[in-house]
Amino acid sequence: MNILIVYAHPEPQSLNGALKNFAVTHLEQAGHRVQVSDLYAMKWKAALDANDSLDGPAGARFDPSLDSRLAFENGRQSADIAQEQDKLRWADAVILQFPLWWFSMPAILKGWVERVYAYGFAYGVGEHSDARWGDRYGEGAMAGKRAMLIVTTGGWEPHYSPRGINGPMEDILFPIQHGILYYPGFDVLPPFLVYRTGRMDEARFSAISDTLAQRLDNLWRTPPLSFRPQNAGEYSIPELTLRPEIAPGQSGFAAHRRPTVAGDSEPGPARAPA
Ligand code: FAD
Repeated sequence: MNILIVYAHPEPQSLNGALKNFAVTHLEQAGHRVQVSDLYAMKWKAALDANDSLDGPAGARFDPSLDSRLAFENGRQSADIAQEQDKLRWADAVILQFPLWWFSMPAILKGWVERVYAYGFAYGVGEHSDARWGDRYGEGAMAGKRAMLIVTTGGWEPHYSPRGINGPMEDILFPIQHGILYYPGFDVLPPFLVYRTGRMDEARFSAISDTLAQRLDNLWRTPPLSFRPQNAGEYSIPELTLRPEIAPGQSGFAAHRRPTVAGDSEPGPARAPA
């Protein structure tokens, strides 16, 4: 299988660097082909702007969506964007790896998403009408591919529990897992989470690596998160709200996941050994 790791940490000798190297070696030893987009090493340009089209703005002013669409359709995208899109086409699975910074991904990785996810590539795909609102949330260019997050945090696991002060990790990651990964069609696997990174030693690192190895070995078998597809009848179109009979009384992020049936094997997020 082909696996793309999009990796965002400025220091090669960091914990993230060690985990990334471990993942690459482990996957390659299992016979997979791996590419890494090491965003800091690549000096990735994080800011989406008019230079992302080789032609510059098409109109009198820069229009981020329209100019993205025209550049994508006409093969006039900046080369760095087109190369990352080729890697995504090549990949059977994509791993986004990053330290949690201010409750989200580092800016350089957000900038990768903003620039690589062009109009016509990751959004604005499929029929848009009153009857159908595009190929997204379960459909789209990434359909059939798998995606997973590897995220490290300074905070402790209970800080991210349902009543923890930081808010539940599932909610913090919803905009990434649902909004960035499920939207263009990825099947999103439960994240691999390493909490409390300030308390790390060789023994814990070794235990974490073992757990990560299991997750990588099961990349093709792990059931994805049970997000509700947009076009399977659970949402009214064009309102795009859950139909009244779906999850009645529920709102918020959790309503957009189908309940797991008792006996289902969907795992929770993989927590690295504490
Ligand atoms: P490192 O600092 O490189 O390493 C962590 C520990 O692991 C160190 O003790 C190191 O010695 C050890 N280590 C590294 N490699 C190995 C190895 N191979 N074997 C054994 N031990 C090793 N945290 C939150 O919870 N929420 C936030 O919102 C948040 N926001 C942040 C914002 C910013 C701008 C910054 C800088 C940090 C923030 N943090 C936050 C903390 C951040 O998530 C952690 O610092 C980060 O996840 C740690 O990952 P790292 O790769 O940088 O670890």
